[in-house]
Formats: sequence, C-alpha cells, structure tokens
Amino acid sequence: MIDRLAPDARDAAVAATLRRRFGFASLRPLQREAIAAALDGRDALVVLPTGGGKSLCYQLPALVQERLTVVVSPLIALMQDQVAGLRLHGVAAAAVHSNLSAEARADLRRAAADGSLRLLFVAPERLFQDEFLAWLRTRDVAAFAIDEAHCISQWGHDFRPEYRRLAELRQQFPAVPFQAFTATATPRVRADIQAQLRLRDPEVLVGAFDRPELCYRVLPRQDLVEQVATAIGRHPDAAAIVYCIARKDTEALASALQRRGIAAEAYHAGLPAAERTRLSADFRAERLDVIVATVAFGMGIDRSDVRLVVHAGMPKSLEAYQQETGRAGRDGLPAECLLLYSAADAAKWRSLMRRSAAESEGVGDPDALEAQLLLLQQMQRFAGRARCRHRAISEYFGQAYAEPNCGACDVCLDELEPVPDGHVLAQKILSAVVRTGQRFGGNHVIDVLRGRRVERVLARGHDRLPTFGVCKEESAGRLGNYVDQLVDAGLLRRSEGEYPTLSLGEGAMAVLRGDARAELRVPKATLAARGKRRRDDARPGGRREARDLEGADRALFDQLRALRRRIAGELGVPPYVVFADATLEEMALRRPESPDALLAVRGIGQKKLDAFGARFLAAIAAAGGDAGAGAE
Ligand code: ADP
Ligand code: ZN
Repeated sequence: MIDRLAPDARDAAVAATLRRRFGFASLRPLQREAIAAALDGRDALVVLPTGGGKSLCYQLPALVQERLTVVVSPLIALMQDQVAGLRLHGVAAAAVHSNLSAEARADLRRAAADGSLRLLFVAPERLFQDEFLAWLRTRDVAAFAIDEAHCISQWGHDFRPEYRRLAELRQQFPAVPFQAFTATATPRVRADIQAQLRLRDPEVLVGAFDRPELCYRVLPRQDLVEQVATAIGRHPDAAAIVYCIARKDTEALASALQRRGIAAEAYHAGLPAAERTRLSADFRAERLDVIVATVAFGMGIDRSDVRLVVHAGMPKSLEAYQQETGRAGRDGLPAECLLLYSAADAAKWRSLMRRSAAESEGVGDPDALEAQLLLLQQMQRFAGRARCRHRAISEYFGQAYAEPNCGACDVCLDELEPVPDGHVLAQKILSAVVRTGQRFGGNHVIDVLRGRRVERVLARGHDRLPTFGVCKEESAGRLGNYVDQLVDAGLLRRSEGEYPTLSLGEGAMAVLRGDARAELRVPKATLAARGKRRRDDARPGGRREARDLEGADRALFDQLRALRRRIAGELGVPPYVVFADATLEEMALRRPESPDALLAVRGIGQKKLDAFGARFLAAIAAAGGDAGAGAE
C-alpha cells in the first residue's frame, strides 16, 4: 500500500503509473485534484465534460494504492469496453453483470481471491444482490466510484431509480470513500447527487464545461436531406451520428441518404434486438460510419472518433443536447455538432410530454411535467437565439465564458446572412396568415403562398386570395423555416395542441404597414463548401492542437487505422480500445522507427508497446518506403 506516501513520493508514483500504464505524459486539469482526493480517502464529486478523462480519476488511484476500487456503472456495454481497455493496459479488471459466463465468474473470483484485482465494474441492480454484497464485505475495498452519477437525479436527463439505492452502500461500508462522476450537472443536479449519495465533506471538482474542439452549428432546417448530406460530406470517411426525434424519421432519412450513395443505417428501439446489436457492433468496429438514430443509440457507444453529430430535430433539453453532442470528438480532435432546428419541434415535444404525463396521471411526480417543459423552453431559447453557442452552454451549466468570440460556432463564425428581400417575403407570409383568417397551420399557409391547388386550398376558395402563389419559387422547407423565424421573432404566434394554427403576433401589423422592418436569414451559400474547422488553441494538459493530416501522412494514418481495425477484430474489442485516433495521428506525423520512439507517442504504455508495437512499426516502415519511392 502506498497511500500514506509523502506528497512528493505520491506525485512521483502517480506520474510513473500514468506514463508506464497509460502512456500519457501529464494529467489533465482536475485529474490531479481528483486523484489526490481519492488517495487521501476523501469523498469527491467530479464533474468533467464528456471526453474530459473521468475514468483515469478512479483507475489511477486503484493502481497506485494497489487496492480494489468498485465502479458502479449503468451500462454493460460501457463496462465491457472499459474492462477490455484496461486489460490491454495490463490492469486486472473485471465486470459483474447478469450475462456473465461461468468461466468469467470463476476468473473473477480467482483474481479477487489473490488480491490482484484492481477495478471491478458493477451494474447497480447487480450490486444489491445479497450474496454479492456479502462477498464484497470480505474484500478490501479502497473506494466506490459512481460513474454517470447524474442518473441518481430526476433533474438530470437519464434518471435511473436503481441509483437511488446507492445511499444504502454507505451504511454497509461506512469507512469506504465515495467518488461520484458525471459529465452533466447543472447546479441543481450537482446538489442532488451530493445529497442522495450522502457525500461527506466531498472535494467538489467542476471542470470547464466548454468543449473548444466542438464546433456548434444551429441552422434553420430548410432541406433536411440536403443539409445532412452536405454535413456528412464535410467529414469524409469519418464516423457520424444523426439523431432524429421519431423512429420513422430515422428510416426515411437513412434511405434518403443511401439513395445519395451514403452508407447510412437506421437505428431505433423498435428494431429487433439482434439487429440493434449488429448495428452497434458494426459502428464500434468501424464497419459502419453513418448511423441515423433515435436517442436510443449512443449511451453505450463511446467510439471516440465521431467527427459529426447531427440533430435532425431539436432535443428536449440542453442537458440532452450536451450529452448527445458530447459523443463527438471524444478523442479531443475537432468535431462538428449540427442542430437543424425548426420551431415546430418544440410544439411536437410539448404535445408528446403532455400526452405521456396524462397517461401516467397519478403515477409520476406531478412536478415532472413542469420540469420537462421548463427544460424544453430553455433548449428552444438556445436554438432560437443568435448568441455564441459555447457561451450559452457554459452559462447554462453555471460557468462564465471568457472568450468574446469562440471561433467555433455558427454565431461567431457569422454563418447566416439576411435574405435579400426578406422584409417583403415576411410581409407576404404575414399577409397570407391574415387573409386565411388566422385559423390555419403553417402547411396550409405555405400551400397558399406556393400556389398549390390542393383540395384543402380549393375547398376554401383560398386560390382566389391575392396572396395565392406569391412565393412560387420558394421550397416548402424554406418557407416553413421562415415561418419559424417569424414565430421566434414574435411576429407570428403558433397555438399549442395537435393542430397548431398561426396568428399574428405583436408588431406584425407594423411590419405589414411598412412601419417596421422584418429580417429573415439563411445559411451562407459558402458554408456548404467550407471545410471542417481547425482549432489552433492547444488545450492545457494534453489536448494538443489538432491538425488536419494531409498527403502521405493521411495515407499512413488510414493504413494504421486499418491495422488497428484488424487487431481489434482479432481480439474481439472495439478499435478505439486498441489505440485512440489521436495516438494514430501522432504516429502518422512522427513516424517512429524504434520501440523507444513509439513509447514516446501519447497513449502508448509498455504493455501496448509489447502487444502491438512491432506490427505498427512494421506498417510505418513499409509506408516510409512507399513515400520515398513516390517522392518527386
Ligand atoms: P470521460 O469518461 O470523461 O468521458 P474518458 O475517461 O473516456 O473520458 O477519457 C477520454 C479520452 O481521453 C480517452 O481516450 C483517454 O484515454 C484520454 N485521456 C484521459 N486522460 C488523459 C491524459 N491525462 N492525457 C492524455 N489523454 C488522456
Ligand atoms: Zn461562439
């Protein structure tokens, strides 16, 4: 046991383990503090954004102390990946869950019995089986690490009742410290976690929420398929997740993308379990790059090289948005998060929420609907307003944001431009709403504007209105978005309910009379052609500057990825567990020629060097020959 070491010696032990096991040169911000708290045997609440490096905060102390840490984690897939990753680093780790084979169970007992086990992952429902707890009490448990701790709170976005029971552990293991980890925590959720877990004088560490490597774009949804295809085109050969609100939307969008030659597949909870398993496995193994899914997809998937997350519809809270966009760029390299927004999405959510609250009448928490509607309203405000996205997200999570211009969001990059005759167009739309009596929804008004002789229009004589056909050249999608913009600007009002109707809002008459001007905006035409953003601010503590690989480096990187995929296939683990993209990138740039040089690459520890070093060195050497031969 090294837990009573003097601070210097302890820092040295941490640094040595970090280097030797994980191949990392330094700790990231707050990892040091979190690890120190664990080594002091203190309770802690650690809030770091996705990809911030939470796992290391409980993995490293277990290794340095040479004792067992029990990690509570909600998802089997996530546990299995972590265990696979740790084993590749030569760490004795195991997971306990309901589908454990007899063989795996025997392995586990052996490792636990001889005291070599360092990390044990457990699902909460499994933890509370009497037999398991009785066994655990016979072990020397150094700490409990509670992963995804926001699951304990109703104010989070992923409440799991089983998590509530974790407080019972406190009684059973009064002397063992608890460390809670989460990526999503508004001050309210944070307070809830502390209270529910009965943390004792915890070290509370809240990292910067901002993810500078993510470029946030919130664009009006005007031509969904075109917009999604273009975004995918900005990230060739890279992993992308496209989120839709409804199951049927995932299928329609995936087929539309397939027709454009993009190998996309749909994923939602209504698919047969075997199909879902296949899709997840294909995505993790990099056989499939573009997945069009409902939010059912993603919790257990932490492929670290996702370069694009698209929301084809607005999520229901900023918590959900932050969680889902957080799946992009977990390797710390730049990634894009595109939200295609329509004000109609909020109305859709509201009616879904009201319906499900009505169905669970008397069962659920009566305040739950209010809470949901409030979260939704905040999301809508975020999407509808032209305010720096990085700033808005940071502030929402209770943190000030210092940069005047983030350089990585649609607002700061100034990607929208006014429609040239926007004022006149707005007048036409407002006028059509008035002429049709303020009793119809957006679709009808748009049919009138576009001059469509459909039954509904003809039956009401709306083809004889002066506004009939005044916007013939505009697409329905674009007009729909202009309607949204007018709603957001308060010039139109949209009623609640299943069939929302449009009516004039405050200030609309002034616009119609020409006393006030209205503006409509479209994404700049140049956006489509623009490449992915580069961020040139290196992040302190390890997230280094991201480069776009080019030419021979890019070719080598692709070869190394193929090699990684082969090795992962042989071992039956997801590729990112073998090496992260950031590691392969550095290999492609530095082209190490010896094991020592390879060991200096970030993310390569002794164990991985022994296991894979020779094959990667061979691939690099072979590529060097090619590049030489091909040089001019
Ligand atoms: P989280 O659980 O907070 O989402 P992870 O623990 O999965 O994040 O870490 C994200 C990535 O960052 C992983 O690829 C991990 O190996 C890497 N990482 C963590 N700590 C460091 C560090 N100190 N230096 C370099 N890379 C790190
Ligand atoms: Zn910005």
